[in-house]
Amino acid sequence: MRPLLLLLTLLMLTIAIAPPANAQDLPQPAAEAAPTAAATPAAPEGPVEVPAPSELALQRYRSGNIIWAINMALGFLIPIVLLTTGWSARLQAFATRVGRYWYFALCIYFVVLVLALTLLELPWAYYTDFAREHAYGLSNQTHAKWIADTLIATALQLVVGLLVIWVPYLLLKKSPERWWLYTGLLAIPFIFFVILVTPIWVAPLFNTFGPMQNKNLETRILALADRAGIEGSRVYEVKKSEDTKTVNAYVTGFMNTKRIVLWDTILQKLDEEELLYVMGHEMGHYMLGHVVKTVFVISATLMLALYLSHRASKWLLHRYGGRWGFHSLAEIASLPLLMLLLQCFSFFGDPLLLAYSRHNEHEADRFGLELTRSNHAAATAFVKLQTENLGVPDPGWIFMAWRGSHPSIGQRIRFMNAYKPWETGEKPAYEHLFQAGGK
Ligand SMILES: [Zn+2]
Repeated sequence: MRPLLLLLTLLMLTIAIAPPANAQDLPQPAAEAAPTAAATPAAPEGPVEVPAPSELALQRYRSGNIIWAINMALGFLIPIVLLTTGWSARLQAFATRVGRYWYFALCIYFVVLVLALTLLELPWAYYTDFAREHAYGLSNQTHAKWIADTLIATALQLVVGLLVIWVPYLLLKKSPERWWLYTGLLAIPFIFFVILVTPIWVAPLFNTFGPMQNKNLETRILALADRAGIEGSRVYEVKKSEDTKTVNAYVTGFMNTKRIVLWDTILQKLDEEELLYVMGHEMGHYMLGHVVKTVFVISATLMLALYLSHRASKWLLHRYGGRWGFHSLAEIASLPLLMLLLQCFSFFGDPLLLAYSRHNEHEADRFGLELTRSNHAAATAFVKLQTENLGVPDPGWIFMAWRGSHPSIGQRIRFMNAYKPWETGEKPAYEHLFQAGGK
């Protein structure tokens, strides 16, 4: 299901201050939120110590790794079952009989598959997204909101899927040797379109967005944005407190819809100096064009994955096509095969994409520091991110390689303590971008 969810992930493409806190996890005995070992900075402006992770955070981290491995295995197992049992071929036969026309057959196959997999994964999704988040004391979500969000997400997946699924299959029919190239090229404007409309058409389906409530803070943020060269009207506040207790902020959108969004939870938990640093980090993403650059990197990776799928599928279909009940990628029954191959390539490709993401995050951290020069507030902001989101400061290398979209909190706090080019005489990387005036 994961490659199908790629669509949704693209829809949600945002570049945040912190990785999402609800990485999935195993059933746990409901644990009481133990008081977290908060950092006690030595002096008001001295270096900030990296806090030790709480027992609860460690427990969540360890079981989260197991869940990740199970999800990865499911990503391989589900398409393999669909292929080897002949279910995919049978679903295609059914869809062709009922739909009669090529496009309708495609739609029926797609809808049945998405609904079946969504239902199959529902208990697991309920556990990992809802029950477990509550067990760790990280969620404010009601059952009704979870159900509504799940329905909206599924409907969205179906609508977007039906709008685009015919494109690669038509190309597979018309150009069996070059379909991967055309699909990859068409994906670029499509992804930009999705990013353009997500903040105005998609995100408001899940949460309420509005202008900043704290006008005092807004004035300070606008002054900072001015200095960074950003129109300040691009700052929004989203009511995430109805879903979660975790904190975050992100940059999203493209052209007219490009914006910085602060979760209301982060506004409650961080003080003004810390929030201004978080804004400085987001402004870094904004000014350094990270959303656009990431789209091109993802598109290039997608094209490579499609090409490799094209090559691998020829060999696989030649060998196993008889057993699976179809012989060409151009048949819709090939969808699980494409899912399987994309899962394979993303297993090898994710570490590269994540390394790229960590690089951007580090540069945004640097930009935020050069803009605010608030080393201490930046470091304590990350301490709060760790404690509020039940993070661990220095996860293992497997975690970092396959899930580390951001440098670890420990690395970030140490960088916040150390990076002061205005004192050390080191050459600042981004200061020349800032407008005169302000701080
Ligand atoms: Zn970021």
